[in-house]
Amino acid sequence: MVAYISVIVVADLAAIAATALTTPFHWRSLMVFAALMGCGAVCIEATRRLGMPAGVSRDLLSAWWLPVALLLPPVYALLAPIVLQTLLQLRVRAAVLHRRVFSAAAIGLAGCAASLLFHGLAPEAWPLSGSDSATIMLAILAAVVFALINTALIAIAAHTANPDLGWRAVLWDRESFTLDVVELCLGVTVTVGCGLHPILLLLALPPVVLLQRSLLHAQLQAAARTDAKTGLLNAAAWQREADTEIVRARRTGETLALLIIDIDHFKRVNDAHGHLAGDLVLVNVADVLRGQLRDYDLVGRFGGEEFVVLLPGADLHEARRVAERLRARIGRMSVPADEAVISVTVSAGVALMSEHGDDLIELLAAADLALYRAKELGRNRVCVPAVPPRLQGDPAG
Ligand code: GH3
Ligand code: MG
Ligand code: MG
Repeated sequence: MVAYISVIVVADLAAIAATALTTPFHWRSLMVFAALMGCGAVCIEATRRLGMPAGVSRDLLSAWWLPVALLLPPVYALLAPIVLQTLLQLRVRAAVLHRRVFSAAAIGLAGCAASLLFHGLAPEAWPLSGSDSATIMLAILAAVVFALINTALIAIAAHTANPDLGWRAVLWDRESFTLDVVELCLGVTVTVGCGLHPILLLLALPPVVLLQRSLLHAQLQAAARTDAKTGLLNAAAWQREADTEIVRARRTGETLALLIIDIDHFKRVNDAHGHLAGDLVLVNVADVLRGQLRDYDLVGRFGGEEFVVLLPGADLHEARRVAERLRARIGRMSVPADEAVISVTVSAGVALMSEHGDDLIELLAAADLALYRAKELGRNRVCVPAVPPRLQGDPAG
């Protein structure tokens, strides 16, 4: 990972040195560069108050570095991300420094490649001032190359950091692809506008700012639903969505089951290996849950080391089978900590809609009771509520 980041950063620095020495200086280029960076800065400032969700987040800043790459010599494409990433780091969120540096280098190299390609094939100094459709097609091609190289460089970093992630997972994501297309459209449109006359940037800026703000808003909304540590739904979001599922199941008469899964003696893991290792175990358990369940099962982190799963359409037999499979899977898991390999077991409580409760509160209470029984009986097992509450006090039951 460190080696890969170093290679990219060194390549970026070498490219900056090489292009800086060979690029003749023109005031006009510098002015256009300053205007585009100014637009990027306005975008960053305008969205700053909304905050930036932690972790990987997307922005529409290619609307500004694509024109830099296509209208100006390659050295500017290498410098532009350094300017804007510095601004992001100082004004929006102080991210881990090596991540920012890597982003700037990856975007810079992708921009440099797009710039070389475009200027190589359309060698006029200011090629987009005419209404030449071949040049515009070439700009689109260069934008595609920019997106491909940038995605590939970042995917390699993601895969190196976490080899468990398959290549498909790091390379393909429909949401992210849509954004790439939007960025490409914006980038090429701004390029053509700015190529006609830099003053047209004033017309491009407001819609781009608005798009950027709505994109950020959507990301913040998604972040508010998820538990930051595990990426699963957080308790509030899980309860909201589980409620909706339960109402649906009641209306359609389908079965539905609920599981509460609690890691056994988790406190001992923290005590023996430290809180960070404990967190790693939580992440691994969450990965197993996500990997083992169907798309429409609802998985959430309910509290510290407690997870909840809603299984629409499952009957008691199926729910127990799923819970047993999860228990076995998690039991076989080994999480590498500093100088040890950690294994944990889980206990689970199962509750079935109609049989153990009619709404979410009743189902949670029933599953919790079952979980308590599993702990009492020695942990590392799956239990259902001892006596269905429906039948309590019913002599015929
Ligand atoms: P039991 O088998 O009865 O469930 O025992 P337990 O130790 O798992 O349960 P207990 O409720 O006594 O302890 C839960 C522990 O989980 C205590 C707390 O420090 C830890 N914990 C809660 N949230 C987190 C977290 O986010 N990260 C880490 N590392 N530990 C957490
Ligand atoms: Mg526990
Ligand atoms: Mg607990």
